[in-house]
Amino acid sequence: MLGRGGTIGILGGGQLGRMMAMSAAQLGYRTIAYAPEGDTVCEQVCDDVFTNKWDDTAALAAFAAQCDVVTWEFENVPVATALAMPADSIFPHPRALETAQDRLAEKRFVEGLGGRSAAYARVDSQGDLEAAVDRLGAPGILKTRRDGYDGKGQWRIGSVREAQGLNLPNVPLVYEGFVEFDAEFSVILVRGQDGETRFWDSTRNTHEDGILDTSTLPAGKVIEAQVAEARELARQVADALKYVGVLTLEFFATREGPVFNEMAPRVHNSGHWSIEGAVTSQFENHIRAVAGLPLGDTGCVARSVTMTNIIGGAIKGAQAHLQASDTHLHDYGKAEVREGRKMGHVTRLVR
Ligand code: AMP
Repeated sequence: MLGRGGTIGILGGGQLGRMMAMSAAQLGYRTIAYAPEGDTVCEQVCDDVFTNKWDDTAALAAFAAQCDVVTWEFENVPVATALAMPADSIFPHPRALETAQDRLAEKRFVEGLGGRSAAYARVDSQGDLEAAVDRLGAPGILKTRRDGYDGKGQWRIGSVREAQGLNLPNVPLVYEGFVEFDAEFSVILVRGQDGETRFWDSTRNTHEDGILDTSTLPAGKVIEAQVAEARELARQVADALKYVGVLTLEFFATREGPVFNEMAPRVHNSGHWSIEGAVTSQFENHIRAVAGLPLGDTGCVARSVTMTNIIGGAIKGAQAHLQASDTHLHDYGKAEVREGRKMGHVTRLVR
């Protein structure tokens, strides 16, 4: 168990790290961020920051020497960087990064545990794509296997003809058949160092242009009927990875039951509601798990919760949300406002 005053290292420097660092501070820990870009929103609330490259072995060694425990807030941290940390003090284990960084590896892993994915095909060439569209049909979605997020690295394909006209990026891809879903939801769990696992309520998630827009509770009957099966799969994924910390799996609720979309080996945007809406937030429980502390109650404290992301220029008028009762604004402190950039979120509760 990490004693008070211990130091937690965070690989990555975005808003997820920032909210983790705030929970760590609450529990009496120091935090050090490691974020190559520098000038990140995480460092605004951390005790220290390393702004070195992911492959700077000397800096990584100096960072590790100052940390008692290391975690990450960004799933595209290179696996080699995570492996450069002492094996007994990085949580979750880097194998979770390895699995989740490649959409193909991730799907195969989850299918191996009995999960169902959208129909998919590996695409490494124009010929592969045309064969995939031919076999799986259109519409479908072509995705980069690595480094995609918030709808980036994705192309909707309406027909074989559209596929023929596409100028393929020179990276590994995967083509997915379009899932006719009733709703989208996520399963977020925390697993402790002793294997104890707790789940937060599953929210109904809506997306705009591939970016999460809202997460709401209650999620409704269609989703509620599928949560048990989805949780069972998520638990198996967590157990198979000997996972420690918060893990997220995203699902489509379909007529045939839950269809796995993707996993994130980290705290997740669709869990931000838990800061005010749950007894213990995803950030606090992640810190508790990596520090070896007892896990907190994940129960929901309200009758209904709505978390809405604030994207781009909408942050300028966001303080107006505070006029509504039991409404909580989180401004991530990003200086540069860009279209499509997650700038903050607002959570509204009805108790
Ligand atoms: P992803 O980055 O894979 O989570 O995709 C972002 C969003 O695009 C998802 O939350 C869905 O709304 C939509 N999407 C992605 N893949 C599919 C699919 N195979 N079928 C239908 N919608 C999809």
